[in-house]
Amino acid sequence: MGAALKSVEVRDPWDIEGTLARNDALPPSALTAIDNALHDLAARRLGVPVYRLLGLGRPEPVSAYTLGIADRETTVAGAKRLREHPILKVKVGGWEDIETLRAVREGSEAELWVDANEAFSPEEAVEVVAELREIGVAMIEQPVPASAGPEALRVAKEAALPVPVISDESSIAARDVPRLAGCVSGVNVKLAKCGGIRRALEMVHTARAHGMLVMLGCMVETSLGISAAAQISGLFDFVDLDGAMLLADDPFQGPVYENGRILLSEEPGLGVEPR
Ligand code: MG
Repeated sequence: MGAALKSVEVRDPWDIEGTLARNDALPPSALTAIDNALHDLAARRLGVPVYRLLGLGRPEPVSAYTLGIADRETTVAGAKRLREHPILKVKVGGWEDIETLRAVREGSEAELWVDANEAFSPEEAVEVVAELREIGVAMIEQPVPASAGPEALRVAKEAALPVPVISDESSIAARDVPRLAGCVSGVNVKLAKCGGIRRALEMVHTARAHGMLVMLGCMVETSLGISAAAQISGLFDFVDLDGAMLLADDPFQGPVYENGRILLSEEPGLGVEPR
């Protein structure tokens, strides 16, 4: 990492596009750090939050909160504990988790999204998504492996209709989007995987040009990463930015979580300071 960062070339910090292009060989997470720092710097110099610099209205995102795979009791208790959260995203890896989800549905008022993280074969996925539709989920993420190709996603998408199927592992950057058009309802966009705010906007515009939905996702990351993503969250149909909620010791402060709502700081830049 140290060696990679030494080779970062910034000629003009206002030239964010040019700087990203010159450093495009860096890993996406490193590129994201540069992208976020340059947006923060430019917006601080102008005295505005980053979303204003980008020509966007004030974002008021409501994020899903993710429940990891666990036994039924734990998951149902988790959903009860999180009853103030309007959206829960439940991870599923097998048929037993579908039964767990049914129990969650019975005990929770929340809108339910499902992330299968590539768990099902293309044949299984058809049955799984039909079951999920029947349970009443509002969205299904990546039911089949990315390695199965866009056609496997198309079959799952058609079986799930009208519930949207969103790709995640199949769609890392804007270049992945055109071949998924018609095969998924939309794509999940994660700054740390595509390379930052600029690259995320490329993904959004590419997806919209193909008539697709867009979801904003995250890794387990600090309030710094979450705030950068949240700046552009107004452009998305689904917002899944719970990463910093899961941290015991977040080194940054700025955005505040309130039952799934993310209240962004109005400070210039990304609105984040070291804790
Ligand atoms: Mg996912």
